[in-house]
Amino acid sequence: MILSAKEPMEKIKNSIKEKLNHMDKKPSLGIILIGNNPASLAYVKGKKKDCQECNISCEVFHFEESITETEIIEQIQSMSDFTGIFVQLPLPKHLNKERIIQAIPPEKDVDCFTLENLGKLFVGKASLFPCTPYGILKLLKYYNIDISGKHCVVIGRSDIVGKPLSLMLTQNNATVTLCHSKTKNLREHTQKADIIICAVGSPKFLTVDMVSENAIVIDVGINRDENGKICGDADFESLKGKCAAITPVPGGIGLMTRTALLENMLKTIQ
Ligand code: NAP
Repeated sequence: MILSAKEPMEKIKNSIKEKLNHMDKKPSLGIILIGNNPASLAYVKGKKKDCQECNISCEVFHFEESITETEIIEQIQSMSDFTGIFVQLPLPKHLNKERIIQAIPPEKDVDCFTLENLGKLFVGKASLFPCTPYGILKLLKYYNIDISGKHCVVIGRSDIVGKPLSLMLTQNNATVTLCHSKTKNLREHTQKADIIICAVGSPKFLTVDMVSENAIVIDVGINRDENGKICGDADFESLKGKCAAITPVPGGIGLMTRTALLENMLKTIQ
């Protein structure tokens, strides 16, 4: 089975739009974009379009790469009218990501990157969630894939995907194995998994011999193959005939990450 995100994304967007129709207060997103990284430009364009489709106002503040840290922090401090603030990453090397993210008031931190929001996530008291892990849980829920008691193997321990996802899966009663580049015998872990979530950033990393026939594969990776085409971390063509279900790339977790941002935006006014 192919776990496409197109339908769930559409349904969740329509439901957000519908909820907003009945609310007096409206969310508004302020995006800070620095430089002209083509991927960042495309992501911001997508976010703006998603917001427009849900009647969420969205303004992009686009700066030259030479902007200073102080200027960005002042910009963030001047954005009190927005209910959500998002800084598009990655930032140019001369800027300190941690200090810039920490300038976002936690209640407006729709990417859930501030230390306060990560702390809340850790103790199960979060109201805003990191978008990619949140999107993954939404997709599993949409397809009625129960994670309670399941053995989930997460490959990749980044601060934006693997680590928070492991926490959120645990809080939803999964049994989690978190793997990374120093994990020994990775295949032994993945072969025993009910659900494999791969966030490594390497095309065809997850191969057919690593996965059991009952496994569900969630492919987070966004890479380019040898022909320049977007692909995930899983060897999709071989795996789709073997495992129980798999997410496509594109059309999978990328879309759910965008959807999760909209869900977080709705929460900024609730
Ligand atoms: P990242 O910061 O690039 O880290 C990659 C992780 O993979 C690290 O934890 C690394 O282990 C692990 N890794 C590398 N080689 C490995 C190996 N041979 N065996 C096991 N683990 C290995 O990760 P990221 O930012 O989470 O991104 C991962 C991928 O997801 C990228 O393709 C990115 O573009 C994509 N992504 C997609 C979305 C989306 O919306 N779909 C969102 C975010 C990211 P160490 O920690 O030991 O180095």
